[in-house]
Amino acid sequence: MDSDLVAAFAECSEIQGTLVLIGQRIGESNAKCVEMRGNLALRGQQVEDINRKCVELRGTLALRSHEIEVSEHELVEINVSLALKNRQLAEFNAERNGIAAALALKDQQLAASNVSRDKALDALVFSHQQLAESQAGHKGAKAELAVTNRQLVESNDQLEQFAYVASHDLREPLRMVSTYIALLERRCGDRLDDEEREFLEFAREGAQRLDRMVLDLLEYSLVGRTDDAFAPVSMAEVVEAAIHDLRLAINEASAEISAAVDLPTVTGSREELVCLIRNLVGNALKYRHPSRPPVIAVGATVRGREWVMSVSDNGIGIAPEYFERIFDIFQRLHARTAYEGNGIGLAISRRIVEHHGGRIWVESVPEETTTFSFTLPMDQE
Ligand code: ADP
Repeated sequence: MDSDLVAAFAECSEIQGTLVLIGQRIGESNAKCVEMRGNLALRGQQVEDINRKCVELRGTLALRSHEIEVSEHELVEINVSLALKNRQLAEFNAERNGIAAALALKDQQLAASNVSRDKALDALVFSHQQLAESQAGHKGAKAELAVTNRQLVESNDQLEQFAYVASHDLREPLRMVSTYIALLERRCGDRLDDEEREFLEFAREGAQRLDRMVLDLLEYSLVGRTDDAFAPVSMAEVVEAAIHDLRLAINEASAEISAAVDLPTVTGSREELVCLIRNLVGNALKYRHPSRPPVIAVGATVRGREWVMSVSDNGIGIAPEYFERIFDIFQRLHARTAYEGNGIGLAISRRIVEHHGGRIWVESVPEETTTFSFTLPMDQE
């Protein structure tokens, strides 16, 4: 038993030792637990602090988020207006580029036009010089023209005066010559031989011809000096009157005469215009072709502000080299024995046309046709 007790004592002391150790350990653990509890409380406080901060941060975050949202919205708006501005800028840029291109083009054109302006300026300066020179010449020529015109008017007046006076004064001595030749023929006719009588006949014919020429000269000088004032004149009536005057010659030649239906009414001297048409139609009858009856046409056309009247025939015609000369006074193309006349008709015709402010000319194909044309201004109507 003792050994068992001793062993149990030993075992008890051992358990006691172990218990003391465990107690120690528990004490230590408790201390540690207390320490840990303290730590835990500290940590809990810290966690609480952290939580509080977290809550604060969350609030700030929410605020910030809201602010960010607002800012984002503003940003979107800003972006939209930025995009708009960008588009406007692009458009503006395109426009600016277009303007720049147009400006460059205008620059080029300006440069080109500057060059041509310079050239034009040079030409202008040159033509100014020429103008100044020609103006100086023009002034001189105008002065000369005025002098020549005055001289012409004076000489025309003198010529008309001369022709008029001479025609009257010349006829008196001519009449004396004719009278005394006739007296001589009557008194000495029996005593004269054939040759002497022929001489007297020549002298009588010469005096008669001279008288005719003096009368023609008188008629020529009277154109434009008559008292017949200008008035509306129907050219249809004028042609009718001229044809009436020539009816014997027309019948004798079996001529066919036609006048256009639309002959105008002009302002002029009826007497002179009848004389003009009578001369032209009379010549068409006189210078008819031997192998065909005369066909004569009187017509009128409008050219600008004037009438162009014409008298055409199918007669012997006129060679072109005489187109001008036939209008001169006493100019004839044929011997007196072939065709009667003094060569005054066309000279008088030209004077009548010019007195009416017109021009006269002839066109002809020898052996075929001749057309005399003359103009009459419409403004006088
Ligand atoms: P005249 O008939 O008295 O000779 P004009 O002055 O009337 O004088 O004519 C001048 C010339 O013009 C004429 O001699 C004639 O040779 C020519 N002549 C005029 N009219 C015609 C005509 N219609 N056809 C051909 N020749 C003409």
